[in-house]
Amino acid sequence: MSLRGAAKRRRHLHRTAFGAVQVSNHLIAGDCFGLSTRSRLNPRNDIIGLFLLASLLLTSCAQTVSGVTPTPLFADVAATQPEVQAELTPTLAPFRFDLPTPGEAPVSGWRPPLYPIPWAPTSYDHFYFARPIAADQVNWPLADYRYGGIYFGPSIVHTGVDIPAPEGTPIMAAGPGTVVWAGWGLFTESPFAKDDPYGQAVAIRHDFGYRGQQLYTIYAHMSKVVAVLGQHVETGDRIGLVGSTGATTGPHLHLEVRLPANKFQDTYNPELWMAPPQGWGVLAARLMDTDGNTLQQVEVYVRNVETGEQRMVKSYGGGGVINHDPYYNENLVLGDLPAGLYKVTFRYEKDLQTWVEIYPGQVTFFTYQGDLGFTVGPPPAPTLEGVPETATPNPTGTPQP
Ligand SMILES: [Zn+2]
Repeated sequence: MSLRGAAKRRRHLHRTAFGAVQVSNHLIAGDCFGLSTRSRLNPRNDIIGLFLLASLLLTSCAQTVSGVTPTPLFADVAATQPEVQAELTPTLAPFRFDLPTPGEAPVSGWRPPLYPIPWAPTSYDHFYFARPIAADQVNWPLADYRYGGIYFGPSIVHTGVDIPAPEGTPIMAAGPGTVVWAGWGLFTESPFAKDDPYGQAVAIRHDFGYRGQQLYTIYAHMSKVVAVLGQHVETGDRIGLVGSTGATTGPHLHLEVRLPANKFQDTYNPELWMAPPQGWGVLAARLMDTDGNTLQQVEVYVRNVETGEQRMVKSYGGGGVINHDPYYNENLVLGDLPAGLYKVTFRYEKDLQTWVEIYPGQVTFFTYQGDLGFTVGPPPAPTLEGVPETATPNPTGTPQP
């Protein structure tokens, strides 16, 4: 389809993105299909809805769905998510690429060894996972296709990160667990469905959870699945090979972290779950207007004061199925930053800037809230409880086969 041709014309896109649109209790259908689902509680309708949404990814129809807050993990956090749009106007605008602004400096092709997992510098951090690509390859997310990005339409939001790798590169389990999906049809939950946007995929239900809730990781677009359903894998076990099956225009690994259920509405930003390289840290932020509404798709430039290396990261888009970390409630994450002082600049009504210090192995967090300006520091509540070197993820009861 035209997606492939357009991608080839734009070389920096050829690794593609995988997106998903918001599941809603009122799916507004346009000229591609005339169905709507109204009951979020009816699993059959949910499946139909998911299938329609999958169709959205694969067709050139621009669709818009009206908003319903994704299932919150914590009600108090969900209550502060104003960016979920109450009603979007359906659009029949032609399918097109919404390209990230180029100009990001090349990212270093080298990383120090990763912190040992689980890595939890505070009791609210949860770097429980290793990277699913070996350290002798690029094993960090493609900068242009981060979590929460919008590439294919106003309601199609990227629910994971993409790690570029040549076809056939081994994919490894990011943590120990049980294989609960292996093969085609993950998105539609229809085994052997070769039109599934995830292509050949593996889902792992991990041996540990987060605050009593089950954790999953998803590995999509494989050329070959090695793991088998029901198999128990350890961190680093080979589960498949990088490919380009499903909704993709080139070989890469699409990685998702899901909590508390293995549903595509339940993804979180993997950059807050994969251990950073030693000596490096992570920047997270929440950008808001004065009233506390999140600012979407703001281009934020992060420049290392010492080296001058600059990266660009966009705040999350709206209208799609994305979730915010229960502690940070972020709408922007930039991982793999060498420790040091950084100047952060972006434009919202005027040019804005602040400075942040990135610390080894830690998350640096800041907020911006319109007239209230910047706050650099961890979220005020809940209170931090010491800084253990590592923390053990809590087990979550009896694994199911
Ligand atoms: Zn992806």
